[in-house]
Amino acid sequence: MLKEQFMSRAAALKDSGRLEIIRDADLSRFCTFRIGGPAEAAMWPLDADALASLLSSADEEGQRYTVCGAASNILFSDDGFCGAVIFTARLKGISVSGTSIAAECGVPLSSLAVEARKAGLSGLEFAYGIPGTLGGAVYMNAGAYGGEMKDVVVSSDHYDPDTGVISSYHGEEHRFGYRESVYMSGRKTVLRAVMSLTSGDPDGIQAKMDANMTARREKQPLEYPSAGSAFKRAPGHYTAAMIDEAGLKGFSVGGAQVSEKHAGFIINRGGATAEDVRRLIDTIRSEISRRFGVVIEPEIRYVGP
Ligand SMILES: Cc1cc2nc3c(=O)[nH]c(=O)nc-3n(C[C@H](O)[C@H](O)[C@H](O)COP(=O)(O)OP(=O)(O)OC[C@H]3O[C@@H](n4cnc5c(N)ncnc54)[C@H](O)[C@@H]3O)c2cc1C
Repeated sequence: MLKEQFMSRAAALKDSGRLEIIRDADLSRFCTFRIGGPAEAAMWPLDADALASLLSSADEEGQRYTVCGAASNILFSDDGFCGAVIFTARLKGISVSGTSIAAECGVPLSSLAVEARKAGLSGLEFAYGIPGTLGGAVYMNAGAYGGEMKDVVVSSDHYDPDTGVISSYHGEEHRFGYRESVYMSGRKTVLRAVMSLTSGDPDGIQAKMDANMTARREKQPLEYPSAGSAFKRAPGHYTAAMIDEAGLKGFSVGGAQVSEKHAGFIINRGGATAEDVRRLIDTIRSEISRRFGVVIEPEIRYVGP
């Protein structure tokens, strides 16, 4: 349910040109999986203060909300979301100073990698082609091709709903691990982060980015909607290889299918529902447990109604 006071704060931000709002927003339009029912409201703050103000108002008024970046790792419920879905994807400020890059949470990772290359800075090549935002990547410690956010993030500013103030984490305080960070154990919202890179030759940096993108295109089913790798790596095991060996490549439930190209991906072949995906995930998990005695955990975040 949307709280009246929260919505009047949101309306004031909208009237001052600092927030976009869609009521009864079809969430399938705003996530890479193209799945999900209606949210009572979807909101896009247009500057970091508007985001902080919206979050603080939501907490004061007891408004239920969830924060997303590009929703590239999210499965929204078929029943949508009761409350406000706040997307950070319009917060796109980036500044370069020496070998550091500071960026707002909504900056796409690929744009960040391109800006780094333009400035002759190496370290973010791995992030090129990951379809998420900086905030989502810090939250998940996103990684690929031998790199991860952990390697480059030196500090991050966040809004803390428990105190209502903006504070920061530095270095080890992020408690980065495999697809894990300190942010996953609370409700803090990453507002911006600073990354430390190293000087490099722009042509060499571009070559690495291109090689990563070529590998993605060759190995991943980018022609279908998905939310990336459906499962985390199980320690000592390659999850995609186990799914393949279990004969589950191409297996489907409704419109959701284990990709024939990459068994680690669940794709939306058209008309998939969140229930299809959840049933497929359950089937894969129990089959892998039965055949290999290995428990695999979903990497995709389910956002319930
Ligand atoms: C085709 C494809 C390929 C992919 N390849 C990779 C890959 O190589 N490596 C990889 O790691 N991932 C990959 N992903 C998954 C995804 O892109 C990453 O996990 C990305 O970091 C998610 O960012 P996002 O902005 O989309 O986050 P969202 O999906 O919007 O959110 C993910 C989680 O982060 C939280 N969150 C988002 N923004 C914030 C914020 N500002 N503050 C606090 N919490 C926040 C959300 O609440 C949610 O729990 C891929 C996805 C797709 C579709």
